[in-house]
Amino acid sequence: MNKNCIFCKIAIIKAASNKIYEDENVFSIRDINPQAPVHILIIPKKHISWPNVNPEDEYIFGHIQIIALKMAKQFYEMKNGFRIIGNCGVDGGQTIFHIHYHLLGGRLFTWPPG
Ligand code: AMP
Ligand code: ZN
Repeated sequence: MNKNCIFCKIAIIKAASNKIYEDENVFSIRDINPQAPVHILIIPKKHISWPNVNPEDEYIFGHIQIIALKMAKQFYEMKNGFRIIGNCGVDGGQTIFHIHYHLLGGRLFTWPPG
């Protein structure tokens, strides 16, 4: 828990109605500034801030990938595909320095990303 971190704060709000998924290790919310018709954030409850990642966090990262893939199946908008993005550090475009992944779908994405 980092008291200045918005994702740590949301993680401990048990009754937050905007959580679309929650388990012991991870929660998921809609992005406040969506970049696609569906834009979901998948966030570990633990404050992990790259580059301070430890081997004991391996389970959480694998778990997030599975949650993202399962969640994508639930959205009609993602029937033709989707994108999972993890912005890391300033050059990666990260703005909230508590590791998280974006699940985006419902439109065509280009490559390479901007
Ligand atoms: P990143 O730039 O990869 O660190 O992603 C942070 C994301 O969190 C951005 O897409 C923001 O729009 C989103 N965001 C910031 N505050 C909130 C919030 N209170 N609820 C939901 N999404 C948020
Ligand atoms: Zn945090």
